[in-house]
Amino acid sequence: MATFRFRALEEVLGRQPLKTSPPSSRISDYFSDNVFDMGQMREYLSEEALKSVTDAMTNGTRIPRGVADQVASSMKDWAARKGATHYTHWFQPLTGATAEKHDSFFTPVGNGQSIERFEGANLVQQEPDASSFPSGGLRNTFEARGYTAWDPSSPAFVIGNTLCIPTIFISYTGEALDNKMPLLKALHAVDKAATRVCRYFDKNVTKVHSTLGWEQEYFLVDSALFNARPDLQFAGRVLFGHNPSKGQQLDDHYFGSIPERVHAFMRDFEYESHLLGIPVTTRHNEVAPNQFEAAPLYEEANLSNDHNLLFMDLLEKTARKHHFRLLLHEKPFAGLNGSGKHNNWSLATDTGVNLLSPGKNPKSNLQFLTFFINTIKAIHDNADLLRASIASAGNDHRLGANEAPPAIISVFIGSQLSAMLDDLEKSIKAGKMTPADKTRLKLNIGKIPEILLDNTDRNRTSPFAFTGNKFEFRAAGSAANCAVPMTALNTIMAEQLGKFADAVDAAIAKGMKRDEAILKELQSAITASKAIRFEGNGYGEAWVKEAAKRGLSNVRDTPRALALLRKKEVVDIYGRHNVLSDRELEARVEIELEKYRMQIQIESRKCGDLAMNHIIPTALRYQNLLIQNVKGLQDILPKTKAEKASATQVSIIEEISERTETIRTKVYEMIEARKKANKTEDAYEMAVAYCDKVKPFMDEIRYHADKLELIVDDELWPMPKLRELLFTS
Ligand code: ADP
Ligand code: MG
Repeated sequence: MATFRFRALEEVLGRQPLKTSPPSSRISDYFSDNVFDMGQMREYLSEEALKSVTDAMTNGTRIPRGVADQVASSMKDWAARKGATHYTHWFQPLTGATAEKHDSFFTPVGNGQSIERFEGANLVQQEPDASSFPSGGLRNTFEARGYTAWDPSSPAFVIGNTLCIPTIFISYTGEALDNKMPLLKALHAVDKAATRVCRYFDKNVTKVHSTLGWEQEYFLVDSALFNARPDLQFAGRVLFGHNPSKGQQLDDHYFGSIPERVHAFMRDFEYESHLLGIPVTTRHNEVAPNQFEAAPLYEEANLSNDHNLLFMDLLEKTARKHHFRLLLHEKPFAGLNGSGKHNNWSLATDTGVNLLSPGKNPKSNLQFLTFFINTIKAIHDNADLLRASIASAGNDHRLGANEAPPAIISVFIGSQLSAMLDDLEKSIKAGKMTPADKTRLKLNIGKIPEILLDNTDRNRTSPFAFTGNKFEFRAAGSAANCAVPMTALNTIMAEQLGKFADAVDAAIAKGMKRDEAILKELQSAITASKAIRFEGNGYGEAWVKEAAKRGLSNVRDTPRALALLRKKEVVDIYGRHNVLSDRELEARVEIELEKYRMQIQIESRKCGDLAMNHIIPTALRYQNLLIQNVKGLQDILPKTKAEKASATQVSIIEEISERTETIRTKVYEMIEARKKANKTEDAYEMAVAYCDKVKPFMDEIRYHADKLELIVDDELWPMPKLRELLFTS
């Protein structure tokens, strides 16, 4: 009988691309059709209701109960026309995924009668049974209630037959149990601080919003092969498997032509995304075989993040439809590139100005410089907070693994802007500026747009790079919820811009001219944040040494990165901007530590199981075949000839014995290490024990198992091999 692996391969080779055809070749004909967006609201809502909702969207004002009833009823009518029979509050619990609980519009009213009902109260607030979502101790078991509350700044949408309403998720006592609420608070904080700074330059600015454009990387594997790999099923990454003799060395996959089956899948998820108003525009192959990327146009950060979560969900569902399985793990295949999710980030005013894009006149260039330099300073002062915001078990494999940005946070701005900042630093003199100084400065600042025009300078190895009109935070993992790094980034920007404005105001109060006060403050920010600027190769060993000399942190694993969130400065910043209280922050640390520990625990169990019941038995079966062969040779050949003829077999028999014995010993030692780690009381100590004492065994066990894969008869090997996972489609 053919092995599972060969049957799975046969299934894959018989697959045909699934055809999907959007109703029109013009995306604009159906874009956002399934979203209750501004256009729909104008059609369905009364003027009063529309005004109330737009106020809530832009200023966070409360929607009166009567209006909420109106909105709910119109939303239901609209959704029903789209085929919706149910509604759900769609939220982002701290598990990292999204959650939904569906309720029917259908309401029995007695006497066998029923109506379709959806009231303001159902729209505005729900009480899902939340006891099994992580709360990090914020909810006592006797008070398991959690509430979801409507976020009017992100529009409702219909998927299948369900109306989905984006919501925040909070405890009975009002503490955040999700990722959306802190993000909204951070966006509010940065709005306040950035608007204050903008008003030095333009009094018309009344609001600043943060923009986010994500780039989502992922792998695809055929579902038949996936199902024959218990490690992929349970851990999201392969725990065993020798690397194929051809990997990504030839760089022939990057931007190569997209296989037909994958292309059909992409067309399908793009169509679904467009219906939901997700402006996906870019698709291409990535560096590793079977790795791809998709990216939308950027949007306001809260909406963009909702769209990313929705998009990950769509990818997963569409992949299954096409007999693929989606791998969002940061490093499914050791030795090949991992997957990240670049967060392109900027700030924009309600007057339509991108604050990280230089303008046409010296004033707007000074505004650009102000935001640009303050960003660098914010990263310099809060690198640890940013590092912690991208910590996860999966991302540990990626950060610093020679193809992803290192765990050391630094900022890349390109050689020309570097020269410009160095020059600015020198030309702003202590004491009063002479007219000549001022002219020189003006000229310098005036040159910025030209500098950026041919700023082709790109450094792929930097975790935080300026790319012409935005910064790109590249260290986030592919499975991450961008809300976490975006909350961190916008909070530290609020902190920095607030400090900056305080200093400028103080100087102005002492009689200094405004522009001069701004320039002086920028100069001191340039000087103070120099250590974080790095233009060289972030992947090299030399940088690790250099960064240490500069005093930059290099925190390589998740437990230790999460511990940074307990530093007083971090707790204070989150508290000061009302983003996360110390209790909320501590709850998050606990939850993330536990998530880390559980992830390693699952991997370690799966590794042990597969070693004991897949790999060792297969190796022994092959060993038995060899033993029979050797015995047979002894039966038919004279002793000396038989010895010679069985030399290869005997050495393989011996190698199998040695390796299986090592694997067995290591598996038992790993189990002991887990038992010991589990006795630890403290969440941090336990996570560290899993990281330092349990995790290393998996590499050792894999090393010997992969050697066995190379000598055991291909036909006996049960699990699909990496070359099959990566090169069959
Ligand atoms: P790449 O980094 O792959 O070379 P680009 O630099 O063209 O690609 O842009 C990548 C992403 O940056 C896109 O998703 C785009 O929407 C986003 N982006 C562009 N401008 C901004 C901005 N002002 N704020 C946030 N994201 C932006
Ligand atoms: Mg990019």
